[in-house]
Amino acid sequence: MNFDDYRGVWVFIEEKNGAVAPVSLELLGAGRALADKRNSELAGLLIGENVKQLAQTAFEYGADKVYVYDDSIYRHYRTETYMRAVLACVEKHKPEILLYGATSTGKDLASAVATDLPTGLTADTTQLDVEADTGLLLASRPAFGGNIMATILCKKYRPQMATVRPKVMKALPREAGRSGEMVDESIPLEEADIRTKVLEIVRSTTQRMRIDEADVIVAGGKGLGGPAGFQLVERLAATLGAAVGASRDVVEAGWIGHHHQVGQTGVTVTPKIYFAIGISGAIQHIVGMQNAGLIIAINKDPAAPIFQSSHYGIVGDALAIVPLLIEAFQNALG
Ligand code: FAD
Repeated sequence: MNFDDYRGVWVFIEEKNGAVAPVSLELLGAGRALADKRNSELAGLLIGENVKQLAQTAFEYGADKVYVYDDSIYRHYRTETYMRAVLACVEKHKPEILLYGATSTGKDLASAVATDLPTGLTADTTQLDVEADTGLLLASRPAFGGNIMATILCKKYRPQMATVRPKVMKALPREAGRSGEMVDESIPLEEADIRTKVLEIVRSTTQRMRIDEADVIVAGGKGLGGPAGFQLVERLAATLGAAVGASRDVVEAGWIGHHHQVGQTGVTVTPKIYFAIGISGAIQHIVGMQNAGLIIAINKDPAAPIFQSSHYGIVGDALAIVPLLIEAFQNALG
């Protein structure tokens, strides 16, 4: 493998509801810094149906170039179709670095691509840097339950790939009218070649707001006693315009769906504010929320481990305290 053949930083541009997903804008910001350090170009990789207009957004947020695969076969995300497009583009244009958002789509796609390319993938990165002279990507992420930061290198293969957590990197300010080069790409791909078909998309009716995108999360645990107690969490969240999170025990008890589970086997979240109500603070929960900007815990046990990871703690009965908070916030917010 000749490393000199591999140039440029790429970002997989994820489309969401007809717009570029926020995490992709964040990655363009991070990618711009890496590309500048390497004196190379920043490119977006955009796949979908009728997505060409999104290339302009990518330019305005820092991309020099966007490779576009625009075809009805990419209408819905499917691992196989998207993976084939990424593999073809990588083989043809050879990026040095390829970044994906650590969303469900980004993680699925990156791991599928990594199984085919003879290279590695650093998952769930929270810091990125590059050695200016060698081009070695320094991809860092919490390891061992969040106790250390591990910097992972891919010394022998290219491209170097990483998924990056949403809300960690900063998007650049939008530069309206900034332009770049759009490169139309295509591969011969017939529907008959693809093993998976999307028959119907059923939107979850229980998930009001995605926890991985929320600025404020109100999360509840078994300490709320049952579904009726958990309703208080939902009411506080509704008052604050927040998303609802939960511990695994709550999800397993069926009080709320798995989409809301925070933690090692749930979702990793980084909101500005995280309320942990009636949650003990088991390490498997903590690793999913410890990077929140402000953590406020309510627990009746002053020795509950959650208080060690919280900025503010209220010791007391959540069933009595949360209604007071709801009332106070309702009054304050009008
Ligand atoms: P509990 O541990 O039962 O804690 C309830 C808390 O509520 C206690 O601290 C108690 O003092 C307090 N309380 C009780 N009554 C009140 C009241 N009236 N007012 C205020 N406080 C009150 N867990 C996750 O959350 N996410 C994960 O992704 C996850 N993954 C896991 C993966 C593995 C492999 C394993 C082994 C476990 C995992 N767990 C996960 C489970 C985790 O270990 C804990 O069992 C779980 O987080 C506990 O949930 P809890 O805090 O709601 O309940």
